Amino acid sequence: MKRLQDKLDQLKEAGLYRRLRSMSSASGPRVQVDGRSLVMCASNNYLGLVDDERMRAAAVDAIARYGTGASGSRLITGTTELHLQLESALAELKHTEAALVFNTGYMANLAALSCLVGTEDVIFSDELNHASIIDGCRQSKASVVVYRHNDMDDLRRKLEDTPVSGERLIVTDGVFSMGGDLANLPAIADLADSYGACVMVDDAHATGVLGEHGGGTADYYGIPAERIAVQVGTLSKAIGAEGGFIAGARVLIDYLVNCARPFVFSTALSPPVLAAALRAIEIIQTEGGRRHRLHALTKQLRRGLVSEGFEVPPGEAPIIPVILGDPLQTLKFCRRLEAGGVFATAIRHPTVPSGTSRIRLTLMATHSDEDLDQIIVACKTAGRGLGVIS
Ligand code: PMP
Repeated sequence: MKRLQDKLDQLKEAGLYRRLRSMSSASGPRVQVDGRSLVMCASNNYLGLVDDERMRAAAVDAIARYGTGASGSRLITGTTELHLQLESALAELKHTEAALVFNTGYMANLAALSCLVGTEDVIFSDELNHASIIDGCRQSKASVVVYRHNDMDDLRRKLEDTPVSGERLIVTDGVFSMGGDLANLPAIADLADSYGACVMVDDAHATGVLGEHGGGTADYYGIPAERIAVQVGTLSKAIGAEGGFIAGARVLIDYLVNCARPFVFSTALSPPVLAAALRAIEIIQTEGGRRHRLHALTKQLRRGLVSEGFEVPPGEAPIIPVILGDPLQTLKFCRRLEAGGVFATAIRHPTVPSGTSRIRLTLMATHSDEDLDQIIVACKTAGRGLGVIS
């Protein structure tokens, strides 16, 4: 315990300590924190579906019909018609033959990487991929080659120079979770064709958000689903529920059902979660207006921050990083935002590389124009107060 306490003290000194904070509810565009109403700018509830009445009703109805839990793993007693309906809906959303639901997006990445590649194979992984991809690479028996972030020349060089006796798998986030930038998926798919590699995309932040019907990054770029062998996603962000999934060819899904340990050895997702996710997919496919509103807000916020003098990397996603570098400065910025009525999170090492601490602002389709103005004013006040902008 002494060793643990010493380590925690070191984290505190470096501005890298984290604490849990309880909130009344983090689902709306505003949140009550310590008795104050703040604009929520840290949620992944991009389309505002978490507190949509239709989602609530679907979940309540599922509890009434099926109860609160699945009571078994999928291969034993845990598969209900809701699982199968949701998997069909996900396959349709992703334009694939089939899909399989996991308990989290994290587990979906672990499952894919630990079971689809083996000792003879090589994974080529973007250096800024999500932690669950990194952990999946660690669990897999394949060799791992990390390429520079979204650097297609580096990826090409590494594909060219790495001897491989088995298969090659290129894995990337579709939208990078801490930078909001998109993978160069067209170039990745072309490189994969040239070098006989498969592509795996983690579309946690793009599903429901990008593409005409919310299909994600491949949909956004117009890349046929067959060119992306493994499409991972989560049900916990734009879909507003909980869980993860993998979409792809029927044989891929059949293989995962038989061999993916995080799938085989875990209790299935519960009925209310499945029913809410299913309802969300219907809403996502039929209510493009939510996506359009989200993209309009994203453009407005990016423009507003740039015109105040902030350096904001370009991007399409509703994740807007304000990179400050130093973790203590980032924490101060965060506190000043809160004083200005905005709830955002300070993202620090190890979530992002050292020296790139940032405020990660995320938007929701349910933010109002007034919320947006308040975010820009709070950023301006914090930025000026700390000398980040002049
Ligand atoms: N991939 C990415 C890119 C993510 O941002 C996240 C969630 N932070 C996950 C996977 C994991 O998804 P889940 O929260 O469903 O475990």
